Amino acid sequence: MLRALLCLLLCAAPAFAEGHSPADAVRDSSDMATHIREEMEYLASDALRGRGSATPDELAAARYVVSLFRSFGLSEATLQRVPLYNGRTSHNAFALLRGSDPKLARQTILLTAHLDHLGVRTSPLGEIIYPGADDDASGVTAVLELARTLAEPSRRPRRSVLFVCFGSEETGGQGNAYFLRNPPVPLSSIVASIAFEMIGRPDPAVSPGQLWLTGWERSNLGPRLAKQGAPLVADPYPEKNFFRRSDNFNIALNGIVAHTIFSYGLGGHYHQPTDDLEHIDFAHLTRVIESIIPAVEWLANTRWAPSWRLAGRPGVPRGPAMLLGR
Ligand SMILES: [Zn+2]
Repeated sequence: MLRALLCLLLCAAPAFAEGHSPADAVRDSSDMATHIREEMEYLASDALRGRGSATPDELAAARYVVSLFRSFGLSEATLQRVPLYNGRTSHNAFALLRGSDPKLARQTILLTAHLDHLGVRTSPLGEIIYPGADDDASGVTAVLELARTLAEPSRRPRRSVLFVCFGSEETGGQGNAYFLRNPPVPLSSIVASIAFEMIGRPDPAVSPGQLWLTGWERSNLGPRLAKQGAPLVADPYPEKNFFRRSDNFNIALNGIVAHTIFSYGLGGHYHQPTDDLEHIDFAHLTRVIESIIPAVEWLANTRWAPSWRLAGRPGVPRGPAMLLGR
C-alpha cells in the first residue's frame, strides 16, 4: 500500500511541476478526456466515411486537424498537398512549434500519425464504412493532444516540435514519402521521430496501461523514454516485424531514430468495419496519452539525443516497404 502510494506520488510529480497544481492536473485530465472523445467522434464518424486515402473525406480530416492546430495557437499550421502518381491528390496536415531555446530550436522532434483509413467499400448489401477508429484516429488524437499541451505558452519546449498527420498511409505511405521529399525543416535537424498507431485498445500481450515501441532494441530511445516515466515496453511481437510496417520505417531509412508506439488490441477488428467507436476503450486511450506526455515533453526540452544501437539503423530495403495498410 505504501509502495503504491509512493509510486502514485512519484509518478504524479512531473504533472505538478512548473506551476501545475494537483487541481490543475485533475482538471486537465477531464478536459483531455473530453477533447479525445470529441476528436474521435468526428474523425471516426459516418460523416467522414472512413477517411479513404486521397478522398475529400481525408481532406476534411486534414482540414479539421489544421484548424485544431491553429486553435492551439500554432500559427505555422498548414495543409500539404500531395500529388499522387495516379493523378489523385492526398493531403498531409502539419504544424511546427518553434523551440524557445535559440540553439536547441534548431533541433526538431517529429510526432506523427496517419489521417486516412480504408474509406467505403461496396457490398451486395450497400455501402460499408470502415471507420478506422483505432487505425488511426486514435493516433491522430495523441498527436493533437500533444500539440495542445506543448503549445501552451508556459510549456513551450526548448527544441522545435513538428506535429504531422499523414495522408495516404494505407496505400503505401505516400503522404509520408512526399513529406520526406518536401520537409518544412531540414531532415538533418530531426533528432527523433515517434509515430502513434492503434492505441485505442489495450493489448493483452502487455500489462494494462502499457504501450509498446517497435524496434525497441534498435536504439536507446525507448529505454530512455521509459526511464522518464513513459509506460513503454519492447514490442511483444518481434516476429511480425512491425518496425518495418508503419510510417516510422521510411523516416528511419533517412537515418533518423524513428519508432512507432502501438497498443495493438484490435484482434479480429483490424481493417474491418468493426474498427469503430464502440470498440474504443476511451479510458485506456486517455490514460495512455496522458501518461506519454511528460516523457515526450522531456524529450522536447533535453539536450540528450537518441542514437541507433550497433546494427540497429535500417539499411536500404531490397523491395518497397511493406506497410500495414497493404
Ligand atoms: Zn495504421
